[in-house]
Amino acid sequence: MSDWIEPIAELGYLVAAAFFIVGLKQLGSPRTAVRGNQLGAIGMFLAVVITLVKMNAEEGGIVGVVLIAAGVLIGAGIGVVMAKKVKMTGMPELVALFNGFGGGASALVALSELVGRTPSESSLGAEVFIIAAGLSSVIGWVTLTGSVVAMFKLNGTIKGNVVFGGINLVKGGLLIAAIVLIALLVNTSGQGALLDSGQGLTLLIALGLVSALLGVIFVVPIGGADMPVVISFLNSLSGVAASTTGFVVNNNALIISGALVGAAGLILTGIMCKAMNRPFIDVMLKVYGAARGSDSGEKRTARGYEAEEACLAFDGARSVIFVPGYGMAVSQSQHVVRELAEELERRGTEVRYAIHPVAGRMPGHMNVLLAEANVPYEQLIELDDINPYFSECAVVVVIGANDTINPAAKTDPTGPLGGMPVLDVEKARTVIIVKRSLSPGYAGVDNDLFYEPSTMMLFGDGKAKLTELLAATKDL
Ligand code: NDP
Repeated sequence: MSDWIEPIAELGYLVAAAFFIVGLKQLGSPRTAVRGNQLGAIGMFLAVVITLVKMNAEEGGIVGVVLIAAGVLIGAGIGVVMAKKVKMTGMPELVALFNGFGGGASALVALSELVGRTPSESSLGAEVFIIAAGLSSVIGWVTLTGSVVAMFKLNGTIKGNVVFGGINLVKGGLLIAAIVLIALLVNTSGQGALLDSGQGLTLLIALGLVSALLGVIFVVPIGGADMPVVISFLNSLSGVAASTTGFVVNNNALIISGALVGAAGLILTGIMCKAMNRPFIDVMLKVYGAARGSDSGEKRTARGYEAEEACLAFDGARSVIFVPGYGMAVSQSQHVVRELAEELERRGTEVRYAIHPVAGRMPGHMNVLLAEANVPYEQLIELDDINPYFSECAVVVVIGANDTINPAAKTDPTGPLGGMPVLDVEKARTVIIVKRSLSPGYAGVDNDLFYEPSTMMLFGDGKAKLTELLAATKDL
């Protein structure tokens, strides 16, 4: 029976892979991104159905339709509730958690193969099978615990970077321990199942614990501003874990989809490193300066303005640049921002949006929010392209951005933001900053820009203040 199913299944996997690749390509532009997402989901649905049919047709069958249906219903139920309940501001944490679940799932599949299968019967051969399954469980557990730590860092439960002396030695030690444990597992395997030997279970538990701890130790020391790099890297690791698991269970669709996620995550990691102007190895191993306040000792005051005063800067302005940041996500003010931009355009002002690659709390965060508010995509300009225009711009409106506009990145090379390219907003004639207080951004670094004579602080919630600014501008 299984003679005919194999080639048909492989052909089906190829079609699923084509869906993934075309879907991924369409995710490259906001115009086609929704369709790209749907194509990816269709590809995954196809791959799951083919796998179930294939397993059912093969000798031994599948675990049971009832068990699978129950798993699908419970999993989908939890997913729908989480996705519906989470606020837009909690999206980055949810994405980090889902990423971790991907790694955890790969680790569990690898574990079940190691426990339930006799290694010598694998088509890979006993040694390769154990190495592949061992690697996918190490990467999977690291992704799970690392992502959970990242989630707590994103929602502020874990603040700053947790560092202790010799932390890199501990990381190296844990990595070596994981490799040694996999080698011991290979050594333990005889002709029977791994659990036949008394040592097998102990080694598997030790491998899980060492990997889980490695995930935690790998993420805790990474400082606030470097989180985008670690998040993209964890995303890549979840793909690599899935791909190695694909080898273990001999499933081409899993190998391909995992490799695509792994490669996409790596490319994103490269983009984020470039955005932070830091080599990847430095982000992983070097501890950047701890956050500190202004050390001048003098007490400075920043002047707060009313919307009616601030809007006067728009009068006759030829060009206005909006700079969105995390505070725009928190206050959900993207729609009012677009309305204000349209009002300015009606008055003949040229409007653009400056997009910093790490603004917000997840890669592409600002693009998603502004696309949701129907802001024309051509008006979104990346950091390198917009920076030369600040000096000839009449007004910059900053909505809850802080680290991404902080001049300390240029003036304090050893600080947490040191060397990170930032938006040169201080070069504009007037800078209107909308935020609730003088508190620092995610990296915990004070921002001198708040005290500049050309800065007008508009203290309050982003949406409320922009609504006032819009009303005042209409009355100009
Ligand atoms: P920041 O986190 O530096 O600052 C956000 C500012 O928003 C705060 O200073 C806060 O000030 C203000 N804010 C919060 N709520 C509101 C509100 N309701 N209304 C108005 N303002 C509000 O934001 P940036 O976007 O400039 O920088 C992102 C930072 O996050 C970078 O350090 C980046 O490295 C890091 N990061 C980015 C990730 C990514 O993938 N993009 C992932 C993880 C971290 P106040 O409290 O005074 O209102």
